[in-house]
Amino acid sequence: MHDVYEIHEEPATAQEQNFSSYLDGLNEGQLEAVETLDGPVLVLAGAGTGKTRVLTTRLAHLLNTAKAYPSQILAVTFTNKAASEMKERISHMMGGAPVEGWWLGTFHSLAARMLRRHADLVGLSSNFTILDPDDQVRLLKQLMEASGVDTKKWAPKAMISFIDRWKDRGLIPSQIDPHEVSELAEGKLPDLYKRYQERLRAVNACDFGDLLLHMITILKNPAHQNVLEEYHRRFRYILVDEYQDTNVAQYLWLRLLAQGTGNICCVGDDDQSIYGWRGAEVGNILKFGEDFEGAKIVRLEQNYRSTNNILKAADSVIKNNTTRLGKTLWSEQGDGEQIRVCGLWDGEAEARWVGEEIEDLQRGGASLNQIAVLVRTGFQTREFEERFLKLGLSYKVIGGPRFYERLEIRDALAYMRVIVQKNDDLALERIINTPKRGIGNTTVQTLYAHARAKNISLSEAVIDLTQTEELRAKMRGTLMKLMDDFERWRSMLETMNHAELAAQVLEDSGYMQMWKEDKTPEAPGRIENLKELISGMQDYDSLPEFLEHVALVLENQDSSEGEFVTLMTLHGAKGLEFDYVFLPGWEEGLFPSQKSMDENGTKGLEEERRLAYVGITRARKKAFISYASSRRIYGNWVNAIPSRFVDELPPETIETVSQSGMVQTGRSRHWDSSGFQAKSKPAAASSWDKKVQSSDGTVFARGDRVFHNKFGYGKILNIDGHKLDIAFEKSGKKRVMDSFVEKA
Ligand code: ATP
Ligand code: MG
Repeated sequence: MHDVYEIHEEPATAQEQNFSSYLDGLNEGQLEAVETLDGPVLVLAGAGTGKTRVLTTRLAHLLNTAKAYPSQILAVTFTNKAASEMKERISHMMGGAPVEGWWLGTFHSLAARMLRRHADLVGLSSNFTILDPDDQVRLLKQLMEASGVDTKKWAPKAMISFIDRWKDRGLIPSQIDPHEVSELAEGKLPDLYKRYQERLRAVNACDFGDLLLHMITILKNPAHQNVLEEYHRRFRYILVDEYQDTNVAQYLWLRLLAQGTGNICCVGDDDQSIYGWRGAEVGNILKFGEDFEGAKIVRLEQNYRSTNNILKAADSVIKNNTTRLGKTLWSEQGDGEQIRVCGLWDGEAEARWVGEEIEDLQRGGASLNQIAVLVRTGFQTREFEERFLKLGLSYKVIGGPRFYERLEIRDALAYMRVIVQKNDDLALERIINTPKRGIGNTTVQTLYAHARAKNISLSEAVIDLTQTEELRAKMRGTLMKLMDDFERWRSMLETMNHAELAAQVLEDSGYMQMWKEDKTPEAPGRIENLKELISGMQDYDSLPEFLEHVALVLENQDSSEGEFVTLMTLHGAKGLEFDYVFLPGWEEGLFPSQKSMDENGTKGLEEERRLAYVGITRARKKAFISYASSRRIYGNWVNAIPSRFVDELPPETIETVSQSGMVQTGRSRHWDSSGFQAKSKPAAASSWDKKVQSSDGTVFARGDRVFHNKFGYGKILNIDGHKLDIAFEKSGKKRVMDSFVEKA
């Protein structure tokens, strides 16, 4: 018996030791935030000051002081990944105690769990399905058709995003002001919203927005007072991370739940609010004091993550924003290294430079796991992926598929595959009805059946069947046109540069148009990716060579075992930290993004600047910032100027390096004296002569002398829409797209 006791006691002792140590090392402000368990608390502080750590420690403290059982704490994190990390950390602090069954997760996951318990109160049963965005659109489209709304003019995808935004704002159909949207969907949008909700209920389903919206509806309803009271009894303590990015619905939900005990602790940083475009309201954090009476506001100033150079640089950028509270950050880690700033010729040179710097870090003993490349926009990962593969550097794209695995890229590649290899059945099947041509599943089945019976390929089967009466005349016409298109593209490949051809195929097939008409938030990113694909193709001599490269890249995908460099967007990097952080593409228009500035003016610019602040403050030891002077966008070389954020960096915190490796400190830019700007003249320097100025908006006329990347100089013989027949001095007569040439 005695032995048994001993065995039981040992882990308990270890646990106690952990309990006593988790508060060690916290500073005064942190300790105050951790120990003020009752009443509302807001920790409003800059990056790396330990806000997340406060939240985690507070959770451990609640348990340790027996203030609450795990099931009595509601803890909200911004991502599922953050939730699992928090679970792990607490479990560690608690000496390995299991953390199952806790109410710890994202707003969506927590609200879904709640709603399953009370689904009947909003007319659902507890096994309701959660619709994905595709289903949402399909459902709304049916309703629009039934109401006689023209779905060509009013894209259902665009309409659903209005409904999503209403839900983010916590608005149910009866609360919609019809005047707000009277010009949309023939004024029927509010009514469609109502029908959409009715329809969802009828099929026992919810969309993502409903998870919170239904819960708010239930908790607000005096008839269900008992439910609210039950949660007030249950959740004695509420904890919320990244509070600056909550939207109105999330805020309402929290406020209802917190009304009971008033024990709510939120942490956040107004300077890191970066989801305004998705409905986040930075105002929520600024008015916490008014919303929760008697709130204690804790400000933290010591940063434990970064060096002072990094903090100074971040501060100097963010202080250009006018709408902020303002705060001081300092660190005990010394000044540390300067931020390395480098301007490069183009995106490829930038990726090469980043690759070299990473190899240097590696040689110096740094782990790849402590290195991240943070981009503004998804398409930017391609250039780095290519480079890392070449160098054999393991990497992972976090928060999204690798470039060549993205849906739109796979679709575009499928077109290219069918052009190169007529009998690539899988590729043809993938795009036969993308964009929609009315070729349904049944037709594809018929085609396959025929192919199998005759032992021929799918495209041969298509050609066979279009010569018989097997299919309806209209369908035969559609299929024949598609086959003709492919034949035409194949023959064009003989005279045309393959990247130009690809651009034309995406236009002619309607594939690009499909995404242009798509109003989902992802669509612009997909278009950028497609353009980037075209740009990347120019690095290869032929289409088959390019396709082979892609096949090899895709095959390489599982090699990132062990250590790897993290590639992700700035948005995805919120809350994370790395020793070394690369911030490429700091160019006007790319970052800050032109789109944000066009759509939201100063507000948009300030949100971009907060993203820059988030980016810099992810770095523990050193940040690397780079920009290219020209980028190839859809085959055009576009000149770029460094981001205004580069100018906002204080000179004493940066070292400017030139491509040749010469280091200068301060702000002088290496190329100012290097004659670099002259290279935009096509023939100026032989190694750069493939670069020409953008031809955007150029008017061409017959007889104009022009320059083409691949074919050199030539004279325009004829103009056919956007296609130019050109007599090239060296390569003879060719037909090319106007966007690929510039006036010489
Ligand atoms: P962000 O605004 O980026 O989300 P944060 O304020 O949430 O940052 P944390 O991630 O909690 O900051 O902490 C930053 C780093 O500092 C972490 O590595 C954390 O472990 C460390 N840290 C926080 N507080 C202390 C402390 N008192 N002593 C030592 N290290 C600390
Ligand atoms: Mg944090």
